[in-house]
Amino acid sequence: MTQTLEIGAISVMPGEVRRGGIPIGADMYGRERQIPIIVCRGAQDGPVLWLNGATHGDEPEGPFSIFLTLQQLDPQKMRGTVVAVPVLNVEAFTAGTRGDPLDTFSHDMNRLYPGKADGYPTERVAHAHWQAMKDNCDLQIAIHSGGDHSYLAHMIFASDNPPSLELAAAMGPNWTLVFRSGTGGGNPSSQIGALGKAGITVELGGNCRTLTSDFHEVARDLCAGFLNVMRHYGMIEGQAQYAGSWRMGYQIALLAPATGIFVGNPDLPFETPIENGTMLGQIYDLFGDVIGEVRAPQEGVVFGLRAKPSVLEGQWCCFYGVVEETVNDLITRK
Ligand SMILES: [Zn+2]
Repeated sequence: MTQTLEIGAISVMPGEVRRGGIPIGADMYGRERQIPIIVCRGAQDGPVLWLNGATHGDEPEGPFSIFLTLQQLDPQKMRGTVVAVPVLNVEAFTAGTRGDPLDTFSHDMNRLYPGKADGYPTERVAHAHWQAMKDNCDLQIAIHSGGDHSYLAHMIFASDNPPSLELAAAMGPNWTLVFRSGTGGGNPSSQIGALGKAGITVELGGNCRTLTSDFHEVARDLCAGFLNVMRHYGMIEGQAQYAGSWRMGYQIALLAPATGIFVGNPDLPFETPIENGTMLGQIYDLFGDVIGEVRAPQEGVVFGLRAKPSVLEGQWCCFYGVVEETVNDLITRK
C-alpha cells in the first residue's frame, strides 16, 4: 500500500491528491499536450474509480459534476482511488463541439476505443487515455449529455456484464433506466466491460440546461450519483441508497420526418411510461404550418428530446426507450 500509483505522467502516494496529465503529443507551438487529470488516492486500499468527462466537447456536465465531487472527498478518509478526467477531449471542448473540428477522420471519440497509437489525431488521444486507464481501473463512469442539440434525462448505458449492472444500480434512486450496451464496442465503458470490469455511460443534461441554477442542479444530481457509487463500494463512509427496481430495454432513435422547426409537446413527461401514438413533437415550416409529427412508435419512455428547434429531415428528434423488463436484482447479480 506504500507503493506509488502511476497514472499518466504523475505518481500518487496513499492519502494524496495530485494534479497532472496524460501526455498526448505536442501542439503547433511545440508544447507538450496532456489530458488534465486529478488523482485522489485514499489512505486505505480500495477500488479505482475513473470519472471520464467531456468525451464529447459540447457536454460540460462531466467537468462540473467532477469538480463538485472532488470538493466532497478527503483522501485521508477514503478507501481506493478516484481518477478524475474532467475533459477528455480538450480540442473538442475548446471548440465547444462534439468532436475535434480539426480532425474530420475520427471526429466522434466515443466510437473509436481503444484508439490507435499510429491512428488519426483523436484515435491517438483515445489510445493514450486507454493505455493509462486499462490496467488501473475497476470502475469506469463516462459522463455524457444531450450536448448541443438535445436534452437527456437520467439514463445509463451499461456494459452487459454483472459488474457493470451493479455499478449502474449503485448510481442511486434517480437512475431507474438501465439499458445494456454490449461489451467490446468503441466506447470506453464497453472496452472496460470487455475486460470483465465495470463500465457505464451516464446521460444527463444538455446545453439547454447550462444556465446558472439549472446547471448546478444537473451537476449536483450527477455528483450525488458518484458519491452514492463510492458509498456502495465502501470508498467513503455512509449508507448508499438504491432504486426499488430498474427498467431495462433498448433505445429507438426517432428521426425528423421533415425539415423545419421542431417543437416538443409541452405536456411531455420524461422517464414516465407513455402509450403508443402519444404526440412527442411537431415540425413547422417557415409559414407556420405543421408539416411533420413525431409520435411514440409503441409503448415506452422518452428519455431525451431535441432541444435545438432547427432540424433537418433525418436528424435526431427523440431518444425513445422501450422497456422489456423490470428487475430488482442488479446489486446481487454477480
Ligand atoms: Zn456524449
